[in-house]
Formats: sequence, structure tokens, C-alpha cells
Amino acid sequence: MEKILYLAHTQQDGSLPKVALETLSAALQVQKGLVGSTLTVGLVGEKVQVAADSIAACGVVKIFGVSGADFGMSRYATDVKALEAIGTVAGATIIIAPATSRFSRALPGAAFRLKASIDTHVSGIQLTDGVLQIQRWYYRQRMMATLTRAARPWILAVDSGVFPIWQGDKGAAKVEAVAVAVSDKEKRTKVTGVEAPSVDVQTIRPDAAVLLVAGAGWTKKQVDGQIHAKEAEKHILDFLKHAKASLGSSKSLVDQGSEGEAVLSCMSHLNQVGQTGSTPRHPKGLSTCCHGEEPHVVGWRFINERRAINTDANCGWAQGKADVLYVADAFAVMAKVNELLAKD
Ligand SMILES: Cc1cc2nc3c(=O)[nH]c(=O)nc-3n(C[C@H](O)[C@H](O)[C@H](O)COP(=O)(O)OP(=O)(O)OC[C@H]3O[C@@H](n4cnc5c(N)ncnc54)[C@H](O)[C@@H]3O)c2cc1C
Repeated sequence: MEKILYLAHTQQDGSLPKVALETLSAALQVQKGLVGSTLTVGLVGEKVQVAADSIAACGVVKIFGVSGADFGMSRYATDVKALEAIGTVAGATIIIAPATSRFSRALPGAAFRLKASIDTHVSGIQLTDGVLQIQRWYYRQRMMATLTRAARPWILAVDSGVFPIWQGDKGAAKVEAVAVAVSDKEKRTKVTGVEAPSVDVQTIRPDAAVLLVAGAGWTKKQVDGQIHAKEAEKHILDFLKHAKASLGSSKSLVDQGSEGEAVLSCMSHLNQVGQTGSTPRHPKGLSTCCHGEEPHVVGWRFINERRAINTDANCGWAQGKADVLYVADAFAVMAKVNELLAKD
């Protein structure tokens, strides 16, 4: 009989992050599929009562909590101890946790201490004939594997955007405190603040409905023989503002800065999408002035609806990589699109 443990940590305001609520849906799905299994919850944070109350209606009877000032911040040494303690007291055979940056740092260490196996970046769960199987991608999202493990405990770190957000009424949850002793040495690392760009400057928005991808064409000579980098930047930033979109880039465009060519100041290597870049998840994507070469398009794996604007009717997007290709000048199209969006 499997003993499933769902783990989550709180945010600064005491609530659970979105990916934690998605992962709760996954944990409930696993419990339903594994006949005779039990599900317990383990929470870590400065205060965990608000988070426990927020998921009280999920039907889990036992909630363990590691709380106190020492567990308010993301810190490997204290997080790994908290996770180890909850895993031990719960006697868990399957541990399901959200792949937040905080847990992604601490879970592998907790796996070592619990003598557990761990699979990260879990992007799917299925139960076939009572056997739990997970899905994850390999080789830069080119190959998807379905796998299972006999080893226990088995820890699964679940990626965001895979499961629906668990929704339910608040309640009054009973939290069983798990005591974890922390030495001064283990508290040496301190988070002294968070430096984040302001919303206007921040161009990477994982939860945006649309991803706008800019390619090197924006900084190439146009029909008038001139480069229009400032104008390009305005079109891109206007679209991000109006559509609350996230910004992606091709490698060629972000590489240009180091090669001394015209650059868009809103771009950095963090925006790069592709084989050597990121694989963002958005319902829709619009590629502009980007050729659509395979090493770039492989990063579009999780973009559901794809459109592209390119002056070249034979560009990569035309080879079955986009749902719609507009053979047009992106400067003209984006100017019109932004004009229409500004009216809304
Ligand atoms: C091992 C390896 C890994 C790689 N990893 C990545 C990766 O992670 N991400 C990535 O992006 N690339 C990656 N690349 C590079 C990739 O193969 C391409 O070179 C790159 O994506 C090309 O960028 P681009 O389409 O922006 O530029 P270009 O190929 O220069 O294309 C510019 C496009 O803009 C169009 N254009 C110009 N003006 C306009 C206009 N006014 N309106 C509309 N269209 C216009 C042109 O027709 C052209 O198609 C990798 C390559 C290798 C070998």
C-alpha cells in the first residue's frame, strides 16, 4: 500500500504558490488511481496554518507542518532538514512536490538523506493497471519518456503548467507540528531581499497568454536599406504592454550584442527560446522576424497555437512549424496590431 506525501512550501504572504496547487491536483489524482493508498500533506514555511486552511477541503486527513522563522526563507540547509523530517514522520513511499525554485534546490538533497529516488521535471502522470507512470522530456525536449520505478521512496518534482489548479473552499485544518532543530551553522545563508525588475521592464512572464518572439530580422536592413532598431523596440514593447505578453527571442538576436551589432535593449540571453534556450509554456505564440529554424522551433514544444510573420514565404515556419504564417512586413503588421490593441 502506497503512502503518498504531498509537499509544499508557503510564499511570503503565507499562501501556496500556483504550481503547488497544480501539484495538489496531481497528488489527488495519484491517490485516486492507487487503490488502498493514503495521502498526507507536508507544509514548510514561517507560518503554515493559512496554507493548510486553504486546502482543507481537499479531503486529506493528516497535515504535517514545519514552521517558524527559520523556515520562512528559501535556504538549502534548513529546507532539506524540513523535507527530510516530514518524509520520515510520514513514512512516505511516494512524495509529490512542486518544482518551485526553492524545492528544486532542496529536494535532491532530501532524496539523498531519505535514500529515495527522485525524478525532476515531471510533465505528466498516468496510472496504468494500478501502476504509477510519469512522463518527462529528455534531450532538450526532443524525446518524451514514460517511466515507472520500483524503488521507494520515490520523489516526483512536478513542473508548472501541467495540472489544473486545485480549487476548493477554505476550512479549518489541523496541523501536526514536526519539530526540526536547526544549528547556527545551518542558518548562515540569509535572504536579505529580492531584486526584481519593475513590471514594465520585466519581459519574461511565464503566466502570460501569449508569447511574442522576436528574431534577428528586426535589426536587419529593411527595404529602405536602413536599420530601424529603435522603431523595432517600440513595436515589441508596445505589444508586450497591450497584450501583457511574454517576450522570447531567437539566438541570433540575443547574440548580436556581443557581436557589436544593433541590439534591442529589452533583450537578454534569458529571453532565448530554443535548443540552447528555454522551452516556455503559453497557449499562443507569435514569431516575428525570426526564420523558424529547427534549433529555435524545438523550444516551441509547449506553445499550443503558433503564428509567425515573415517576409520570406519559404521560411522555416512555412515548413509545417506554424499554424498560420503571415507573409508580410512585421514592422507594418505590428504597427497595425498595436494600434488596434491600444483602442481596446
Ligand atoms: C547547436 C545549435 C543550437 C542552437 N540553439 C538555438 C536556440 O536555442 N535558439 C535559437 O533561436 N537558435 C538556436 N540556434 C540557431 C538557429 O539555428 C538559427 O541560427 C537562429 O534561430 C536564427 O535566428 P533568426 O531566425 O532570428 O535569424 P535569421 O536566420 O537571420 O532570420 C531573420 C528572419 O527575419 C526575417 N525578416 C527580416 N525582416 C523582416 C520584416 N520586416 N518582417 C518580417 N520578417 C522579416 C527574414 O526573412 C528572416 O527569415 C542553434 C543552432 C545550433 C547549431
